Amino acid sequence: MKKLMCIILENYEAKTKGDVYMRNFYLNDSELPKRWYNILADIPEPLEPYLDPQTKEPVTPDKLTPIFPMSLIEQEVSDKKWIDIPEEVLDIYRLWRPTPLRRAKRLEEYLKTPAKIFFKDESVSPPGSHKPNTAIPQAYYNKKEGIKRLATETGAGQWGSSLSFACNLFGLECTVYMVKVSYNQKPYRRILMETWGGKVIASPSNLTNSGREVLKKDPDSPGSLGIAISEAVEDAATNGDTHYALGSVLNHVLLHQTVIGLEAKRQMEEINLYPDVVIGCVGGGSNFGGIVFPFLMDYFEGKKKGTRFIAVEPASCPTLTKGKFEYDFGDVAGLTPLIKMYTLGHDFVPPSIHAGGLRYHGDSPIVSYLANKNFIEAVAYEQTKVFESALIFSRTEGIIPAPESSHAIKSAIDEAIKAREEKKEKVILFNLSGHGYFDLTAYDAFLRGELKD
Ligand SMILES: *Cc1c(COP(=O)(O)O)cnc(C)c1O
Repeated sequence: MKKLMCIILENYEAKTKGDVYMRNFYLNDSELPKRWYNILADIPEPLEPYLDPQTKEPVTPDKLTPIFPMSLIEQEVSDKKWIDIPEEVLDIYRLWRPTPLRRAKRLEEYLKTPAKIFFKDESVSPPGSHKPNTAIPQAYYNKKEGIKRLATETGAGQWGSSLSFACNLFGLECTVYMVKVSYNQKPYRRILMETWGGKVIASPSNLTNSGREVLKKDPDSPGSLGIAISEAVEDAATNGDTHYALGSVLNHVLLHQTVIGLEAKRQMEEINLYPDVVIGCVGGGSNFGGIVFPFLMDYFEGKKKGTRFIAVEPASCPTLTKGKFEYDFGDVAGLTPLIKMYTLGHDFVPPSIHAGGLRYHGDSPIVSYLANKNFIEAVAYEQTKVFESALIFSRTEGIIPAPESSHAIKSAIDEAIKAREEKKEKVILFNLSGHGYFDLTAYDAFLRGELKD
């Protein structure tokens, strides 16, 4: 009995101080958030609207209905602070959510830092990243509107595999235009998509006008995300039963991803800790927004001051750190509305770095706005430095992180080293947006010393 009391007490202390030996912080199924958090309700000014590329007038919903369902268009511009997660979506989220919050204790020890490092583990989803958090609701709302097929693009295959996974669960067909160079070099994600029933097409293809246009000029084009987006949008716009789905950038995508931060907040509350720094890598901004927005809410509500938010991007595609804050297209062909965002120009083709998910020329309009108003910070890292951090994490914590997520790890390590130098006990939280088990050729190149910045 006495022993039992001791264990209970020890457990209580560990929980209350976020201390001692506890590594994993779980929520049970009933604690899964029932609502997404919409930051549009809290930011001080409204975002600048999407513009019609021809008229330069704000885009009206009817312009978007050929490619998106009305429910997602409404979410895109909603000013409601909380949006209910449909029961059908919750039911599928429960296949892998709530995801664990983990303490990277061995990493802390390796760095000899007084900082506590926590990470939200989004790598546990079936496709291995945070992306199904939005793929599932997008498939759900399209199905509800009677759509039969979704078309999309994918770079390295993370988004394509997540949407294939989601479409399969709702009985929708899924067509994925996959950047040709990845299609040829990365067969495993293609196989994953096909296993979940997706139809994968190497882009540029001769199935669309946009694809044929590119191939006419350059028959050997390796493709790009911008070209693949043009093909998928065209496919959706020209087929009545088909819609388009985007895996990042748009407001409704970031909304769906807030389930990450809402869980993380609750998990940290249970151990009476609050992060001093919240870190995420940024491609189009969705996993960053997902973990950061629920904490930023406390700032906007006047409950917390001084929390820092760090967006991490690759030095070779430095959208937030070196881009211009202006209206630009989301794709190469100029089919999408004009979006006010940080951009490197819609015809920017980044060098082929391995973090395929961070190669987008633009960024989420919300994340861009927050960066422009200095609510968040942005940093950029060279990829060799990123892989050094990935290796440290793999060798201390075991999980092999996605190259994208490793950008966040590099920043967390830098912050932990700073804490050591300043002798400060700060609490660091980063998002592990995915694992790197399909990116082993990138690790191979790094280990052989063949990776360049
Ligand atoms: C796609 C992807 C990213 C980048 O996309 P965001 O929308 O910026 O989150 C980051 N990490 C992983 C693992 C991804 O698959």
